[in-house]
Amino acid sequence: MTNHLFDAFRSRMPAPDRLLMEADDGRSITYGDMLAKSAQLAHALAQAGVEPGDRVAVQVEKSPEAALLYLASLRAGAVFLPLNTAYTLPELDYFFRDAEPRLIVCDPDRLSGVEPLAAAIGATVLTLGRDGQGTLASQASRQATDFSDVGRGPDDLAAILYTSGTTGRSKGAMLSHENLASNARVLVEQWRFGVDDVLIHALPIFHTHGLFVATNVILMAGATMFFERKFDPARVLSLMPRATALMGVPTFYVRLLQQDGLTREAASAMRVFISGSAPLLAETHKAWRDRTGHAILERYGMTETNMNTSNPYDGERRAGTVGFPLPGVSLRVTEPETAKPLAQGEIGMIEVKGPNVFAGYWRMPEKTRAEFRDDGFFITGDLGLVDADGYVHIVGRGKDLIISGGYNVYPKEIESEIDALDGVSESAVIGVAHPDFGEGVTAVVVRKPGSAIDAADIADAIAGRLAKYKHPKQVIFVDELPRNTMGKVQKNVLRDAYKDIYS
Ligand code: ATP
Ligand code: MG
Repeated sequence: MTNHLFDAFRSRMPAPDRLLMEADDGRSITYGDMLAKSAQLAHALAQAGVEPGDRVAVQVEKSPEAALLYLASLRAGAVFLPLNTAYTLPELDYFFRDAEPRLIVCDPDRLSGVEPLAAAIGATVLTLGRDGQGTLASQASRQATDFSDVGRGPDDLAAILYTSGTTGRSKGAMLSHENLASNARVLVEQWRFGVDDVLIHALPIFHTHGLFVATNVILMAGATMFFERKFDPARVLSLMPRATALMGVPTFYVRLLQQDGLTREAASAMRVFISGSAPLLAETHKAWRDRTGHAILERYGMTETNMNTSNPYDGERRAGTVGFPLPGVSLRVTEPETAKPLAQGEIGMIEVKGPNVFAGYWRMPEKTRAEFRDDGFFITGDLGLVDADGYVHIVGRGKDLIISGGYNVYPKEIESEIDALDGVSESAVIGVAHPDFGEGVTAVVVRKPGSAIDAADIADAIAGRLAKYKHPKQVIFVDELPRNTMGKVQKNVLRDAYKDIYS
């Protein structure tokens, strides 16, 4: 029977003795192992009562087996539902009640806490530890190494992936086999991945970046990955001579730049450095180019849509932009309230449509309806513009837009001015309730080590460059900006921390 996504991987599989993964504890998995072990795991899922369409919720540490479990879930016709390893038991309880998985796979250390939550929804629990051991592994080891894949078509669900919760409560995005297959195929082509590529995979696999961008691209290319449990800059540097590609969030690049060993020679075997999930500062892009000779390739996507745009592989990778819409993806910029298309260069809501766009939010039909236009475009929630050369620029999230004294203020414009000052490492501009202006523009700034730049210096520097209504009413200095695991600045945390400063 055909299994849309897994068949796509299978059809591009290299010789079975080729390496799929090498883990940081020395374990390696060939493509032949991948077929055999995912078959065994698929049998174990079926034995645990998982039927086609059932959700398999997974909260485990990153390991080769955890990646194989994703493939087993596809082969068993289930809906894979990975969960952030940082989620606490009360948070898990919310996701379990929302998704109603048939099976929950958790870390052995978590078992006693998870069991009562599973009992409440009638789910079975199996364990998988970071070393690949646990009750799931022992069940699987007794199974046959071939499995007749459950039939799944392009529109059947492959996964429910919860959004990062940067702007509010996480929503479950329903992703079909074709959503994932089409995007992986396009990315392999755009970024020129082939069987000889070796990716340094140091991202978590509960998020679209590490799971669907990185892992699916490697499987679709028949390539190899170094499967790192966590991001360790010195270790990533030491892998570069044996690798060809890195996919990272901007913080990876910032932290690698702090390594003295990052030189042209150290990066000479590497073919491409890709960044996404949060904005890459133009300064980081430039510093990386100066140090390694490589222009970081920035792309833009989200849980709901997979990847939407990418800077070109050949041609100019323009710092501060996310490049062009990927083949098959239509992108437009509209006036948020009316959906009226805006002229080139104007800032508005980014909307996308294509085979990559999800089937809707799990059990949130109203929310789903509200986020789609009548003609099928998905309203991303990101504000941006398309420049004269067609490059897409993201200026921030709709929810971060500041309305001060009736004027729209885009935080990124002010952040870019502040970030460019000597003595500033980075900044976040937020809107805070203000008695006269509705919202007061507020800058939260991190100084460079040793810098004594103060609020007056920042005000002076901005005075001649930005209209008065954009000037921060207060500048607050902090040691670091709050970030989540994907390196996203949590502006909601900042807004909450400073909510009373004007009252
Ligand atoms: P939630 O939707 O729950 O608030 P989230 O939007 O952060 O969380 P994700 O789906 O993980 O959850 O992130 C997608 C968002 O990340 C995009 O909408 C965009 O705002 C941001 N993003 C991704 N890549 C880039 C990029 N290259 N530059 C700027 N922003 C990016
Ligand atoms: Mg989002």
